[in-house]
Amino acid sequence: MITQEVEKETPQKQGMLNNVMRQFNNASDIIELNTNIRKILGITNNELVVHFPVKMDNGEVEVFTGYRVQHNNALGPYKGGLRYHPTVDIDAARALAMWMTWKTSLAGLPYGGAKGGIQLDPTKYSTSELERITRRFTYALGDNIGPELDIPAPDVNTNPQTMAWILDTYMSTKSPNERSTNMHVVTGKPIGAGGSEGRDRATGYSVFLNIKFWAAHTNTTLKNKKFIVQGFGNVGYWAAHFLENEGAKMVGVQDAFGSIYNPDGIDVESLLAYNQSHGNIVGFANTVSIPTEDFFSLACDICIPAALGNQITISNANAIKASVIAEGANGPTDVEAEQMLLQRGVAILPDILCNSGGVIGSYFEWLQNRNGEIWSLEEVMQKLEKKLYESFKKVIEVSENRNVDKRTAAFIIAIERLEQAYVQRGIFP
Ligand code: GLU
Repeated sequence: MITQEVEKETPQKQGMLNNVMRQFNNASDIIELNTNIRKILGITNNELVVHFPVKMDNGEVEVFTGYRVQHNNALGPYKGGLRYHPTVDIDAARALAMWMTWKTSLAGLPYGGAKGGIQLDPTKYSTSELERITRRFTYALGDNIGPELDIPAPDVNTNPQTMAWILDTYMSTKSPNERSTNMHVVTGKPIGAGGSEGRDRATGYSVFLNIKFWAAHTNTTLKNKKFIVQGFGNVGYWAAHFLENEGAKMVGVQDAFGSIYNPDGIDVESLLAYNQSHGNIVGFANTVSIPTEDFFSLACDICIPAALGNQITISNANAIKASVIAEGANGPTDVEAEQMLLQRGVAILPDILCNSGGVIGSYFEWLQNRNGEIWSLEEVMQKLEKKLYESFKKVIEVSENRNVDKRTAAFIIAIERLEQAYVQRGIFP
């Protein structure tokens, strides 16, 4: 039963909405989810599309399209990132908002799910243009976001600086004595602007920890294991950083510009420095460039898709050599590819578990802002690890008890928590 209407037939975007609905319906069938609750969770609560003008550096005005989709808030305020990418549209925002609802529910956070962004290629704009675009988008969103209503965060191509602009713009629209009570309208802020220690590495750390937990669960270690990373942004870099510290070896990396390979290992910190100075990873010393379509077939033990959705599909799933896929991105594996991988015995650590450290880190930042507290990095990392381990254990338990794959188990836990909230509260009026 697919209740969310799918509008466009573009493979990348429509695929994501199809995938999340199929994942949801599959888990709902298994637990025989109450049909009324299924109707509610199968569709988004609110969808906002804004068109807004921005003055470019050359004096011309460009009109942009921004989105914010709020899927569900039964467990708390809407929560989820804003991405700046040409693939952002209403279906992509819907799919990603739904994944946020399952992610926050699975993590046991007092949040619902939302997602949004602007359809643009940020590499085509100057920093001052991006600042004006961000501020005008925030103004267009107005009071549809808010610290107790809907709390954006970074996602693809947005970062702490983007969040600082959003915070400053949002606060500026409030009366002076209310301004500082709005600090938690966004998370993922720079530390000097109300951000939290550890939020920067939280997503990559959760990808790493889930791999580590999985290794322990299967009686192996990460020492000398080879891994490949698709996407060398915040998530890909930090996951690689922690894996390398644990003795694993990064042998392949792909970004939007190309793919590099060295079977003897690629130094993570040097690649970060190279990426920062060159703007991409291509041409990094002691690596060979390989064709984009060959990336997922590289020889390795661990594969980390940490870029966009629908990257692992029927066209490359059978070529994957890794024995475990750790989903740093949201929705990187489509439903058919997942079936093929599971049949071959490849373990998939699903996005809503594997990358949930980001939103858990956001929750810690939000709590600190709300309570006027400042936690140390050690405190944040410890709390993060504890929460992530609880989620991992629960997913393994449900997966073994019900004899389902780990994604289905994660969905079951998330949906059952929401079901309980609806059953206990009933439907207004
Ligand atoms: N964009 C991240 C995600 O997809 C973080 C969301 C948040 O912190 O609210 O989970």
